[in-house]
Amino acid sequence: QHFLTRIKQQDPALNSFITVCNEEALIDAKAADAKIAAGDANPWTGIPFAHKDIFCTQGVKTSCGSKMLDNFIPPYDSTVTHNFKQQRAVCLGKTNMDEFAMGSSNESSYYGRVTNPWGENLVPGGSSGGSAAAVAARLTPAATATDTGGSIRQPAALCGVTGLKPTYGRVSRYGMIAFASSLDQGGPIARTAEDAAMMLNVMASYDDKDSTCIERDVPDYTATLNNSIEGLNIGLPKEFFSEHLDSNMQQQVENAVKELEKLGANIKEISLPHTELSVPAYYVIAPAECSANLSRFDGVRYGHRCEDPKDLEDLYCRSRTEGFGDEVKRRIMVGAYALSAGYYDAYYRKAQQVRRLIKNDFATAFNDIDLIVGPTSPSPAFGFNSKGDDPVKMYLEDIFTISTNLAGLPGMSIPAGMVNNLPVGLQLIGNYFDEARLLNVSHQFQ
Ligand code: GLN
Repeated sequence: QHFLTRIKQQDPALNSFITVCNEEALIDAKAADAKIAAGDANPWTGIPFAHKDIFCTQGVKTSCGSKMLDNFIPPYDSTVTHNFKQQRAVCLGKTNMDEFAMGSSNESSYYGRVTNPWGENLVPGGSSGGSAAAVAARLTPAATATDTGGSIRQPAALCGVTGLKPTYGRVSRYGMIAFASSLDQGGPIARTAEDAAMMLNVMASYDDKDSTCIERDVPDYTATLNNSIEGLNIGLPKEFFSEHLDSNMQQQVENAVKELEKLGANIKEISLPHTELSVPAYYVIAPAECSANLSRFDGVRYGHRCEDPKDLEDLYCRSRTEGFGDEVKRRIMVGAYALSAGYYDAYYRKAQQVRRLIKNDFATAFNDIDLIVGPTSPSPAFGFNSKGDDPVKMYLEDIFTISTNLAGLPGMSIPAGMVNNLPVGLQLIGNYFDEARLLNVSHQFQ
């Protein structure tokens, strides 16, 4: 009731929720109370949280921030939402997001932009801006999110909260509406590393309904939070401290690094030479995959359907024209172009080759170090409409986060000081399946 009341009072100004589960949440909370009284509780029994509106929730609208799915009530649960139900956690509602998770500012949602709780004219970051803003404003203790090129870490940084993108394959993508399938990964946004560890304990599971989910035991991520980080070898990629980084941001990252040194870590400069190519490679690969994934929204089986189509072609054409927003259409067109005969080798294949070079850069770096540290985003939260009409300006927001997705590695953003009275994030990148270490270092730092 406390959180539902807070949402009612505060969310009209923030717009961080698309759907609030007022009645269902109270029913679930009462049922959880009964379980707790009967001594039959799991760690999450009765704990409120929220889901990004990209996770299919049985019987509860799942819009993915799009008019296309404004009428979509899934007949099934995603594996992530199922896992929370098994625990009898209490879902407060579904959080706002950029349409189909495409964006870095949460300005492309069909349900309107989300406001950063730190300033009424500031973006919360994207695409999981609703989850990050809701956690920052204490409308929910934690929320699920997804990250294809930075959508957990960047909004967490801009809202002053903690976000973790796990290794690709750690969290099932079943029932998580697909954007770019080889990059998408679900993960938590929470106040602290400890809360994020508790979230990941539930989100991570092996699932044979997702062929890319990796069969591997899920450790208790809270068990190693208090380990010492004495002797840990941390790499600072020199390419992350480039002209893309605001000088005040650089200062904050350097202060954070000093703190890690005080905790016993050894710091070393490393190089990830292909960092500069990550944005161009991503903005070929992600649109290519999105153009294929979004072809399912054809107005036939579910989603938006135009009025009175005159034939099948008209049905497809008008349903998609009406249902998708500008950024989604731009991505579909770029992707279809990059995949078309004659251009595939020049763009898609080339981007995949660059992706391999980026992955190899990380593999080489991890021969000598345990963890990479750097900024999460080039600047703190920026103003609404501040990137103008040039989509590339927005795409450059992802410069420090995207290479992690291309390589499939886990990455985390934690609050690390303020610039211009706004929170900034410190990014930690680990080797494959090293989430426990990311959480441990973050917990020690916090
Ligand atoms: N900003 C990136 C994009 O628009 C990343 C989005 C995401 O991680 N879902 O594609």
